[in-house]
Amino acid sequence: MKLIREPDELQALALSFRASGKTIALVPTMGNLHAGHASLMDIARPQADILIVSDFVNPTQFGPNEDFDAYPRTLEADMALAEAHGVDILFAPAASSIYKADASTFVKENSCSQGLCGRSRPVHFQGVCTVVNLLFNLAVPHLAVFGQKDAQQVAVLKRMVRDLHIPVKLLVAPIVRESDGLALSSRNQYLTAEERAAAPQIHVALQALSAAVSAGERVPAKLEKLFKETLSAASDLFEPQYLEFVDRETMAPLEKVVPAGTLVATAVYMKKTRTRLIDNILL
Ligand code: AMP
Repeated sequence: MKLIREPDELQALALSFRASGKTIALVPTMGNLHAGHASLMDIARPQADILIVSDFVNPTQFGPNEDFDAYPRTLEADMALAEAHGVDILFAPAASSIYKADASTFVKENSCSQGLCGRSRPVHFQGVCTVVNLLFNLAVPHLAVFGQKDAQQVAVLKRMVRDLHIPVKLLVAPIVRESDGLALSSRNQYLTAEERAAAPQIHVALQALSAAVSAGERVPAKLEKLFKETLSAASDLFEPQYLEFVDRETMAPLEKVVPAGTLVATAVYMKKTRTRLIDNILL
């Protein structure tokens, strides 16, 4: 496996692979790699000749009061995990080589990105679209793999690829969970032991809600009440930020839950550390 730091070096190499007829898969990550990221690599690996993983904590997708500085950076361990999953190139650039000090060009999606996480994180998806576009230009992949864990990100990127006619196929990987149901996330390590013990209840509450839909409930407000009650019965450490019932493609809110195809997405703060956890379930 080759570690590349410089954007120009990655682009020159990727273009030479393309010129020699090789196919390229890209898995964009912010590093601190875990089994969720590894599952994306395992999906990508057999699909292309060359597998590139980017490992970059992208400053433009963090708001001013978010955890950009605290975000865990573990390049050595990331290299070992990537190598073990057959990655050919790990691209770990410095922010200063990705963004010139006077960079003034950004990519903004204006529909799928507005609700859910976009409401409380106004610059987030613009940062995501910009960096993914930029990574597509550097790694020139035929396909890229993203996780359903970030369901809104998937919707926004699919829309971006469609609208801008970007010649990259997007694949979506299922959510990888701990054995107790908590969705794997680099942010889980911010949790206190007590918060970590309670956190799987987010998944439990989403499943309870899904069971209620199977039993015939269709009214979002009633399902939201059930979700919140499940959380508060388990622990007083939860502070739900949103629970929304949306169309899985457009992220548009639904007035009535449709049993097949509704995405139920949530963000929940853990009160002690103010860690914000996201999770979702597709009905
Ligand atoms: P991140 O490093 O958090 O930006 O995530 C990089 C990619 O890994 C994104 O496409 C995420 O959706 C995906 N990912 C993160 N956590 C998980 C998980 N628990 N299961 C599946 N994919 C994940």
